[in-house]
Amino acid sequence: MDNKAMDWSNLDFGYRKTNQRYVSNYKGGAWDDGYMTEDDTITMSECAGVLQYAQTVFEGMKAYTTEDGRIVTFRPDLNADRMIDSAKRLEMPVFPKDRFIDAIEKVVSANKDFVPPYGSGATLYIRPYMFGISPVIGVKPAEDYQFRVFTTPVGPYFKGGAKPITIKVSDFDRAAPNGTGNIKAGLNYAMSLHAIVTAHKEGYDENMYLDPQTRSKVEETGGANFLFVTKDNEIVTPQSDSILPSITRRSLVQVARDYLGLKVTERPIDISELSDFAECGLCGTAAVISPVGKVVDHGKEICFASGMDEMGPITKKLYDTLTGIQMGRIEAPEGWIHEIV
Ligand SMILES: *Cc1c(COP(=O)(O)O)cnc(C)c1O
Repeated sequence: MDNKAMDWSNLDFGYRKTNQRYVSNYKGGAWDDGYMTEDDTITMSECAGVLQYAQTVFEGMKAYTTEDGRIVTFRPDLNADRMIDSAKRLEMPVFPKDRFIDAIEKVVSANKDFVPPYGSGATLYIRPYMFGISPVIGVKPAEDYQFRVFTTPVGPYFKGGAKPITIKVSDFDRAAPNGTGNIKAGLNYAMSLHAIVTAHKEGYDENMYLDPQTRSKVEETGGANFLFVTKDNEIVTPQSDSILPSITRRSLVQVARDYLGLKVTERPIDISELSDFAECGLCGTAAVISPVGKVVDHGKEICFASGMDEMGPITKKLYDTLTGIQMGRIEAPEGWIHEIV
């Protein structure tokens, strides 16, 4: 495939096949050595564990071109750790951390032509995933698994500026107490599809999910963690066992403390507190932070002081600092930037 035809700045967030991907198979209780391939298809049993009982976990990360022309990934060790946690929860074998990072390096390196240039706003999205591939009909974990990593170039998340979004408090639940909300599993997304399609039909950009037990505490959206800024410029993030531990959110918290000197508190947040906050953002690899202008709770509008025109000032500082670190304009904390050679 020829990447010269790519109009980087106008790419959407969609799948585009790149040249090479990584595959490793788990068979007879052990992972094989793994290999790179041009084959983007998978042949498996009609009764594969992933197809019958959704035994699959994934990760999402990006490769960037820095200001000085290096190709880097951001904290891949944390993606490796999180995938290990996800796999254990679904009774899948663990793909070793060093091999995970090696696979990321191999795939990005083999698809260097698809890493968008510095300044385009586009990035190379990286999707590691693992699934049960052997037949399973009686409910139990599969015997054999496949781990894969592919890449796809994606455009700038914000085209023409980061416009604040409107979200609704959902009547659907995302994750049960003691369930799988804290792992990155496809099953958490399958059950959110009806909720997001419904929200879009009603004119909202996203859903705010509450804790299912009491329906009073803020959890997260379908694919991003919340971060709030108080009127005194303090950062507050929701604490809950059923939130997916976003690497972006954890990094922003550290940036807030160490680079911006802000106070950060992680604690349960009651839905009734929302009107006390000045700014609200959604944290995830795709956008880093999307500003939220308004939350609608069953007809009641909660408008943040930052408004509907632009990111709030603290959100903007957090965004600029973290993207500056990722793009090599600002010195990174030890171990955050992983160069691909
Ligand atoms: C992936 C994901 C996020 C964001 O995590 P990052 O590591 O920052 O990309 C947040 N919530 C859910 C449910 C997710 O699946």
